[in-house]
Amino acid sequence: MAESRPVLDIVAPFLNEAQSASAFAALLDELEAEVSQRFGMDVHKILVDDGSRDDGAQRFSQALSGSWEIVRLSRNFGKEVAVLAGLDQSRGAMALVMDADLQHSMDTSLKMIAELVENPDIDVVYAQNDRREASWRRSQLAKLFYGLINSSQRFDIPENAGDFRVMRGAVVRALTSLRDKRRFNKGLFAWAGFRQKAMTYSPENRVTGKSKWSRLNLIAFSLEGFTSFSVIPLRIISLSGMLAALAGIIYGAKVFFEVMFYGIAVPGYPSLMVAVVLLGGLNLTLLGLIGEYVWVTLSESKDRPVYIVRDVVRGVSDRPPGASGA
Ligand code: UDP
Ligand code: MG
Repeated sequence: MAESRPVLDIVAPFLNEAQSASAFAALLDELEAEVSQRFGMDVHKILVDDGSRDDGAQRFSQALSGSWEIVRLSRNFGKEVAVLAGLDQSRGAMALVMDADLQHSMDTSLKMIAELVENPDIDVVYAQNDRREASWRRSQLAKLFYGLINSSQRFDIPENAGDFRVMRGAVVRALTSLRDKRRFNKGLFAWAGFRQKAMTYSPENRVTGKSKWSRLNLIAFSLEGFTSFSVIPLRIISLSGMLAALAGIIYGAKVFFEVMFYGIAVPGYPSLMVAVVLLGGLNLTLLGLIGEYVWVTLSESKDRPVYIVRDVVRGVSDRPPGASGA
């Protein structure tokens, strides 16, 4: 009977995805049938309603079958936290994290699961987006970001890898033991370590709804990554501050020398302006950056939970799990 079979938890956060509910539930059914047939695993679906304002949770609860639960958060906490809320419920031998907007295909999911099942030496298989960044400028920015963030630590955050991944239970427990409140999953996944393997894929186009990432969101997200995983920005700024000060000293010495020995009147104004503006700018930037770090420290030091659950809706299977379609 089904009791002794290992369980694969599928964790999917959603925010205002009512339109894709039935299609995603169908994808999960298909995935469940394949997983059951090919790998002899039962599937438990853990969806996290990240404060949706539409009737998504209701639609999902009507569309889902088999063994499932929907964790409804008390408000929108952001995808990073929603993933944690889902993983917190995971008890299975493996967990697959995927988006509920149909951008993460069944095909890639199955490939990743197969890789993990067949290869006991690997603990995590993550999907790496092979889509070339739309613009050259943006891809250069991404390079710079990862270059900076990875230059100062013992673990590397891979480029173009997100939450779409399959991991063993031990990895899930390691991740859920990290209770960072300001979460940057890419960094946490890398920090946790384990033996990880990349698998390239192309995300599907979004059929319904829209992406929740605005340009401002992306900037905030990058700052999050910096401040929670790197001291490099602080070092760069202190270094440039020191360079500016050095340049100031040298220039000051030159002016002093000219006045003393050649009696040249100090022309002054333009160079003064440049120095004031430059140093003022540097000062403000540094202050802002320190503010960011202080803000992170402050939010981590408050003893608040990472998220709050409003309620959990559970589904009892209307047919034996794993018996579907196989
Ligand atoms: N999502 C979420 N909370 C948020 C934002 C997004 O749970 O605050 C979900 C969203 O419903 C989707 C997944 O996270 O299932 C990925 O979001 P999105 O499609 O906006 O990101 P993209 O695919 O553009 O990176
Ligand atoms: Mg998406």
